[in-house]
Amino acid sequence: MKALVYHGPGKKAWEERPKPQIKDDEDAIVKVVKTTICGTDLHILKGDVRDVEDGRVLGHEGIGIIEKVGSGVRNFKKGDKVLISCITSDGSCEFCKRGMYSHCEHGGWILGHLIDGTQAEYVRIPYADTSLYRIPEEINEDASVMLSDVFPTAFECGVLNGQIKPGDTVGIVGAGPIGLAALLTAKFYSPARIIVMDVDEGRLSVARELGATDTLISTGADIADRVMELTGKKGVDVAIEAVGTPITFRICESIIAPGGHIANIGVFGEPVDLHMEKLWAQNITLTTRLVDTVTTPMLLKSVLSGALHPESLVTHHFRLDDIMKAYDTYSHAREEKALKVVLENR
Ligand SMILES: [Zn+2]
Repeated sequence: MKALVYHGPGKKAWEERPKPQIKDDEDAIVKVVKTTICGTDLHILKGDVRDVEDGRVLGHEGIGIIEKVGSGVRNFKKGDKVLISCITSDGSCEFCKRGMYSHCEHGGWILGHLIDGTQAEYVRIPYADTSLYRIPEEINEDASVMLSDVFPTAFECGVLNGQIKPGDTVGIVGAGPIGLAALLTAKFYSPARIIVMDVDEGRLSVARELGATDTLISTGADIADRVMELTGKKGVDVAIEAVGTPITFRICESIIAPGGHIANIGVFGEPVDLHMEKLWAQNITLTTRLVDTVTTPMLLKSVLSGALHPESLVTHHFRLDDIMKAYDTYSHAREEKALKVVLENR
């Protein structure tokens, strides 16, 4: 089969690899139907994620058809259409039993990281019963690919941890796919205002189409002042950090209202300052989280009912064997006006 293989920082190739086989009884082999590229894959390619080895097949998102199951798999059989969760869960360890699949003792984020991933014609999924989800036939395929990672991440780490309530003012820093998915799922809770901030006017115009009440182009340090002006000097009840840099974290700290929640989603590569001299008396809550994907079944139902349209973040389609071109487009997201690219293996 063909797969997108990482060969050390800056190097990747679309090359021939052996088709994966069942290794453990709980495994399933899935024929990938659609997959996508994540910002995390670009971090891996830069060399930022050091435990990814040369020779690793990348990708942790996708949908597919079950090709084969191990003798211990009870919930799935050959031919089932499934959503592949970015988080592998054995369902039985202490963390899984607490619903914290992200920290599963035998899983967590391993796909396209510690084991071969989904940017391939076939993928081996360990603990298939608890790491795959059946996809109802009537669900839009592009929508379901967005539920592997993007939507549970934005919803769990941003919206649920932020505890958005009806009438709240929400600030979202970063209008990439994750920030926009936070915007779409924040609307479940009817906030009064959603203020989206980004450096890219193209992404802000998408944010307005998707329901942002206000958008602010971030051109410098004064963006926090503009949020305070917009909110009558009060700030936002919930600040969602969807970038992962000291500057964007600083914005969240500067715009949070008394009693507010700062919900971090961004992947940080360096330390940030926590301004306790200003925040100590502000009754704020700061949360961090790696996505657990515990809300995947709920999100599937929301898509099925028509309440959520994750496919609105898909801007580009490629054939899976054009994946090198897809990476090129995704790496130049601003010029290409790219949010999510979907790769199809048919
Ligand atoms: Zn576990």
